[in-house]
Amino acid sequence: MTEELHRWQIGDVRITRVQELEAPDIRFVIPDATVENLATIPWLGPFRSPNGHALASVHTLILEVGERRIVVDTCIGNDKPRPIPPWNMLKLPFLEDLEKAGFAPSSIDTVICTHLHIDHVGWNTRLVDGRWVPTFPNARYLFGRVEYEHWSRQTERADMLPVFADSVKPLLERGLADLVEWDHQLCPEIRLMPSAGHTPGHASVLISSKGKRAMITGDFAHHPCQMAHPEWSSTADYDPVASEATRRRVFGDLAGEPVLVIGTHFAGPTAGHVVRDGNAFKLIV
Ligand SMILES: [Zn+2]
Repeated sequence: MTEELHRWQIGDVRITRVQELEAPDIRFVIPDATVENLATIPWLGPFRSPNGHALASVHTLILEVGERRIVVDTCIGNDKPRPIPPWNMLKLPFLEDLEKAGFAPSSIDTVICTHLHIDHVGWNTRLVDGRWVPTFPNARYLFGRVEYEHWSRQTERADMLPVFADSVKPLLERGLADLVEWDHQLCPEIRLMPSAGHTPGHASVLISSKGKRAMITGDFAHHPCQMAHPEWSSTADYDPVASEATRRRVFGDLAGEPVLVIGTHFAGPTAGHVVRDGNAFKLIV
């Protein structure tokens, strides 16, 4: 495992982070996240590398409640030809790490993808004898209907076509996928929340149990520096204006509330609480 296991308990829901890899500098996603700009955000400490860059993590989050075992986002995956060199044709021990954390793939009953980007759908499938087969054979795979319809029809992002073909379509073809609405309730404790902008059908995940609450961001924010600067949109944002509006709205709703915010790409401590900081926000770990 590349880093120690992170675990949080929200009422009856246990949340475990299993990391696939860490990215040492997030500028390829957030160009404004330069060492100089980040140095002006004093509270960012644990989310920066020793040389001052913005760290990012690619990890999955497993939610356990009762008999349910729900995987949120499935990272990049192995053996997949990808245009981003550090993500191309990976051979990482992610499934072994998942097993070591106590999660045999066959024990997972549900997979949710917050959106259908390259680093959120990868382990939906794995390569066996030249074919893409479901990594989690006993799971229902939940894809947002709006998100699915967008990526199944679009032609402007040629790089997304193989991602859709090897990591989304095989689940539909095998009848293992369900298209769900933006506010889908998975069980009494867990539901989706619309947070569009990064992609047209992007959803975050809300957890609520016994008076405790948490949110899994997905990619409406990639790094806590976007709390200080919600206008720092990602190069991967489908609609940068909408993504900034979503960050301002959601961080505003979260600020001062007892909601543990768990970042889908937040490195280091990965989670914290949002508070107001002047005209923007900060994350208290
Ligand atoms: Zn994304």
